[in-house]
Amino acid sequence: MSLSEFPLIQRFFTKQRITNPTTRLGIGDDCALLSIPDGFELAVTTDTMVENVHFFAGADPEQLGHKLLAVNLSDLAAMGAKPISVTLALTLPKVDESWLTAFVHGFLNLAERYSVDLIGGDTTSGPLTLTVQAMGLVPKGRALLRSTAQPGDFIYMTGCLGDAGLGLKIHQGYHSAHPEAALTRFNRPEPACEAGQALIGIAHACIDLSDGLAGDLGHILEQSQVGACLDWDALPLSQAVRSYINDTGDWSMPLTAGDDYELCFTVSPEQAAQLTVAATKIGIIESQPGLRLNKSGNIQPLEVKGFEHFS
Ligand code: ADP
Ligand code: MG
Repeated sequence: MSLSEFPLIQRFFTKQRITNPTTRLGIGDDCALLSIPDGFELAVTTDTMVENVHFFAGADPEQLGHKLLAVNLSDLAAMGAKPISVTLALTLPKVDESWLTAFVHGFLNLAERYSVDLIGGDTTSGPLTLTVQAMGLVPKGRALLRSTAQPGDFIYMTGCLGDAGLGLKIHQGYHSAHPEAALTRFNRPEPACEAGQALIGIAHACIDLSDGLAGDLGHILEQSQVGACLDWDALPLSQAVRSYINDTGDWSMPLTAGDDYELCFTVSPEQAAQLTVAATKIGIIESQPGLRLNKSGNIQPLEVKGFEHFS
């Protein structure tokens, strides 16, 4: 038997526990109500995942639930915001209860780990499309922006580069001797929430790596009206990614592949000593516009772009 809209909402979404003092009213009324503590601003972001665009048809629903929330929490992390609550808009071709059970499990497990309340949403029928709006708190005037990098800043990133891209290649048929870690990075990214919050007051500019380092760092460069030089030898590449490059010669993959959900940020040399976040220094911000790559002393322009819809 298939559930209709209201019993479905009732069954899957109304039993969440509210854990955040900012949630005055959660699911059940026409709107949720949030109370924002003095001295904070509300950071708001939304991200959609569409079947056959962002994920393969038949993708594991538990992983989809996790990833949908993770990519949204990653945007909050990039601003230094602490996540508090989310809304969830689901467009489903049909009501598949076992699919929904697994999806909600993946979603709510991650929500619980970061004390994020699910406070509302919408449920409609149509082609499988998953949308989250995420809200977070950031101390007033102190959010990490894309527009505030300065010439001379060191460029850092958390974690490793290109593992999610390798995971995608493996899904597409590339044979890796050690596929597990790369597949996990692609299927179950971990948002860098603590790192983002710890960068407030230290980083000048910050972005999360969703569409590839070259393209995402490019947004910082454009909005800050600066350029940069990346140091190829400094890039944090896993052994699996290094093997992939050796096998295929495709050295630009880690610079262009998306879905890593690490943070890329800039810090002045004076403040670099105060950095408490585990991160690798990968380059430097320069006043000359454009992005360059220093490959063992040979500096070349890097014109690769990240993924863009409609292009
Ligand atoms: P309305 O028609 O007033 O928009 P709905 O009937 O769509 O309200 O939803 C009833 C309640 O259930 C609302 O509080 C809404 O936020 C919540 N809700 C609906 N779908 C979801 C969902 N997928 N996840 C979380 N909450 C949901
Ligand atoms: Mg509605």
